[in-house]
Amino acid sequence: MTAMEDALRLKKSLRIILLGSVMIFLPSMLLAYFGISSIQGEELAVFKDVKNQADGAANAFRNQFERPLASFESSVTHRLAAGRSPLEAPQELHPGVLVALKLDAGLQLVAPFRAGSPLSEPVDFLFDPSVRRALAADRRLEADQVVSQLYAHAEDASRSAQVKARMRFDRARLAARAGRPNASAMLMAGVIRDFGDLRDPWGFRMEDLVELYRAEGLMERNPLDGAQLLRTLVDRLMDRRWAIGMGGEGAVARRALSLLGPFADSEWVAATRERIDVRMGLLYWAEELLPELDALLAGGRNFSVDKGKMRWVEGERGLWALNWWGDDLYAFALDRTQLIADARRLAEEVSPVSSPVVGMLFAADEDVPTDVLSRRSLVPWMLGWSMAVVPRDAQALKDDLQSRRDRRIGIIILAISLIGLGALSTGRLVRTELDAARVKTDFAANVSHELRSPITQIRLKAESLMLGLSDTPEEQARDYRIIVRESERLSRLVDNVLDYSAIERGAKTYAMLVGDLGETVASAIETVEGSAELVDRDLYISIKPDLPAVAHDNDAIAQCVINLLSNAAKYSEPEDPIRLVMRRQDDGVVVAVTDEGIGIPQTDVEQIFEPFFRGSDASVRRRKGTGIGLAITFYIVSAHNGTVDVVSKPGEGSTFSLWFPAMTGDSTQRQGA
Ligand code: ADP
Repeated sequence: MTAMEDALRLKKSLRIILLGSVMIFLPSMLLAYFGISSIQGEELAVFKDVKNQADGAANAFRNQFERPLASFESSVTHRLAAGRSPLEAPQELHPGVLVALKLDAGLQLVAPFRAGSPLSEPVDFLFDPSVRRALAADRRLEADQVVSQLYAHAEDASRSAQVKARMRFDRARLAARAGRPNASAMLMAGVIRDFGDLRDPWGFRMEDLVELYRAEGLMERNPLDGAQLLRTLVDRLMDRRWAIGMGGEGAVARRALSLLGPFADSEWVAATRERIDVRMGLLYWAEELLPELDALLAGGRNFSVDKGKMRWVEGERGLWALNWWGDDLYAFALDRTQLIADARRLAEEVSPVSSPVVGMLFAADEDVPTDVLSRRSLVPWMLGWSMAVVPRDAQALKDDLQSRRDRRIGIIILAISLIGLGALSTGRLVRTELDAARVKTDFAANVSHELRSPITQIRLKAESLMLGLSDTPEEQARDYRIIVRESERLSRLVDNVLDYSAIERGAKTYAMLVGDLGETVASAIETVEGSAELVDRDLYISIKPDLPAVAHDNDAIAQCVINLLSNAAKYSEPEDPIRLVMRRQDDGVVVAVTDEGIGIPQTDVEQIFEPFFRGSDASVRRRKGTGIGLAITFYIVSAHNGTVDVVSKPGEGSTFSLWFPAMTGDSTQRQGA
């Protein structure tokens, strides 16, 4: 191989590498780049979507939990600014309100309750024996005179004003029962005069008790006036500040309502009853929670800093809203336990079960997870508390992302493989096309060479005969033989080329006639056996008799036989024998031509029937040929519904067998191709 060829080959390899990289490498890189960035994009989108859902949940939580508190805050301020008491129906401002209180600058309770005057000593201890005796006698319904005296004695004996008041009241009641109304009225007036604003040991205000008692008496004599009195009593009770620690007002009001019976508007009765219940509830909570408020206020916090602005402080039971207005402190206790339970439930409920996120409520001392997507602090309402939205199932989210990523990468790999495959098959296609083009060029060169050499030979020999250059009769005979051989070759070549071009154009038709294939083959042999190629060869012909009839085109079959015999002669040495055998085989007739020549390598066997294919071996190249003989033979046999078979071994020879199906019908047919 020359240096020049080496250089050319190197250049070609470089070009192929360059082309390959352009066709495979660059698109693959681009695909991988965009693929990977799209994976990242998708992951980002998924994450953004989850984050959005988390934010949505957090916002929904804020709306449902925080907004009512915020609106409670502003309603209180509004009521205060409008000169209305925020203590009226405070539960309408927020359903969680347990109690609403007003304290003065000295932090003393002023509304709607006031500090009670609880007995300084336990009730049981205060009742000295005389009191207990009087009460027991009254219970046993002993003679009025006796009981009355016992009460009077107890009043004198007792050291407590509260007990004294109650003893005198009971004596007054007893006097009325004993039919001494004037004495009773005088005693009652005395109770009001001496103890009016005082409460008895059970928390009843003496004046209230007296009025209730008077109204009760009036009802018997004059129900309308009595009812009027009771109504006024109830209204006054409702307007008054009740005392913490004593439910006396509520009890008296309830009793008054029940005495009214049919003498009062039933709607008013129902509404009032409800108001009493609410007030009793508030009173209960006030009693429960007041110590907590006292503790908070005593805790040293300076609540007077933000005057007019609500301040939230958490107690054990209550979430306290404190608001200084003027010199008064308004304090509302919301049910803290309930609020927390509500917030917990709400946090979970704001995102549906199908959502990938879930909300949770966290106290100040609880550990908030690290993968929080959205978080809302409950300041200023509840210090330290927060609502956090986290992935419902972090692993599932990760798995989902992973499987999406895997799928994308799979698609990218597939696409890159397809590009590679496409490029490869394109390369192969281009190579086949290039090969075909080269084969055709070779063919053209071969044909012109094949044409030129017989023509040259014929002209040379004809000239030498014409000019008398061949002296001896032997020389002349040889010249004539050469002229004949070369013209035969020429005509066969022209036949083949014309045939092939007709076949390629699709213009080739065959005249199929049913007849004896043996005869056709025999006459074909006759025309060639004397030809220059075969004249000196050992040709063994064996045509079995009684062959079945075969529909065939005489000329075409003759051409096949001539091509096979001519190849057998061409690809073997002059001394090698050539055999042609014809016999019956599988419902048909087979024509087999065998030589003992160069044979065909296995790699070539599959291609020898391709047009223009010529064996790659030097021993083939040395021999003249165009590569269309076998292609035409194959085409003709196929047109006869036959098959072609080759058995060959390099160096030992080849057998080409053409098989034609026997005729079963009897008609003569023409078949076009
Ligand atoms: P040509 O003989 O003109 O080259 P053919 O189509 O007749 O073209 O044959 C195609 C190729 O098949 C030949 O080039 C040769 O390599 C191979 N070939 C055909 N017949 C024989 C044979 N009898 N022995 C060895 N090789 C053969």
